[in-house]
Amino acid sequence: MQQKCVQCSKKAAISLPYGPHSFCKEHFLHFFEKKVRKTIRENRLVQGREKLVVACSGGKDSCTTLYLINKIFSRSNPVEALLIDEGIPKYRDKALDIAKENCKAWGVPFKCVSFKEEFGFTMVDVMRKTGPKKNIGSTCAFCGVLRRKLMNKYARKMKAGKLATGHNMDDEAQSVLMNVCEADLQRFARLGPASGIVKSGGFVPRIKPLWLCPEIEVIAFAKYSGIKHYDKQCCPFKWQAKRNDFRGILNHLEASYPGTMFSILRFLQQTKPLVAKEKARDFKLNNCLSCGEPTSGKVCTACKQVELIKKK
Ligand code: SF4
Ligand SMILES: [Zn+2]
Ligand SMILES: [Zn+2]
Repeated sequence: MQQKCVQCSKKAAISLPYGPHSFCKEHFLHFFEKKVRKTIRENRLVQGREKLVVACSGGKDSCTTLYLINKIFSRSNPVEALLIDEGIPKYRDKALDIAKENCKAWGVPFKCVSFKEEFGFTMVDVMRKTGPKKNIGSTCAFCGVLRRKLMNKYARKMKAGKLATGHNMDDEAQSVLMNVCEADLQRFARLGPASGIVKSGGFVPRIKPLWLCPEIEVIAFAKYSGIKHYDKQCCPFKWQAKRNDFRGILNHLEASYPGTMFSILRFLQQTKPLVAKEKARDFKLNNCLSCGEPTSGKVCTACKQVELIKKK
C-alpha cells in the first residue's frame, strides 16, 4: 500500500522504520530540522553570541551540520568552518573541494589545515608504517587522534565558543558500544551531545547537533535539501577501522529491533551523569610538555604518535 505523509496525506517520500513516520519531502525536512533545533535547545549546545566553528570534512554529516548551524545561527552568531586535510589522495582532496564550494555558496569563512604542514607527513605515510603486522596500531587510530588534536588547536585559535561535529545517531551508538566493549569509562563519559567531563581553557567544547538523527535521515535530508557532499567512495584505509564491526552489529540489531540505537543513546543519557561525576574526580588536566595542548598525561597521545611515525 502506498504510504502517505502523516502531516498532509500527500504521497510519502520517506518512510522511517520506527514510529508513525512517513513524510512527504517538505514535511520530512521540517521534521528533521525541528529535531536538530530541539537537540540544540534542550542540551543548551549554544550559549549567547559565541562563535560556532563547524568541522567539515565534505561528507554528508558535516555538510548537513554546517548547513543547519549556518541557517539557524548565522544572524546571531559568527559561524566558520574548519577543514582538516589528512592527505588521502582521491578521497579527502575531492571531499574538501566540495566543502569549500559549500562554504563559498553559503558565505561561511573557512580555514584549511593539513597533516603535511602540521606534522610533516600525510595519512599515506602513516598507512605505510601502521596497520596489520606493524604492531603500532591501526591507521585509523592514528588518523583520529591527530585529527582531533588539530580540530581543538585550530578551533581554539579561531576563538570558537563551540566546535560542532557531524556525528549522527549511528556514530554515537557505535561509540557507546565500543567503549563498553573496551571498558573505557573515561571515553564513555565524554560522549553525548555536548562532550567533555571537565572544563578547561585549552579545550574547545564539542557539540553534536545531529546526535539524535539516524544516518538514513541525514542522507535523506542532504538529498532533499540539495546539500552537496562527497559520497563517491569510502576512505581507502577504512577497511582497517574497528568501528566497521560495531557498525555491522548495530545495523543488524536495528534491522531486527527498530529503535535499538535510540535506546543505546537513552542508556548513555541516563548513565553518563553518574560516570562523569566519578571520572571527573580523578581527572587531572596538564599541558603537553611537547606541544602545550591539554592532556591527562605528561605528553599528549598525538605527540607520542608523531614521534612513533617519525622514528619508524
Ligand atoms: S577511515 Fe580511518 S584513515 Fe580514513 S579518514 Fe577515517 S579514520 Fe582516517
Ligand atoms: Zn506532508
Ligand atoms: Zn602534545
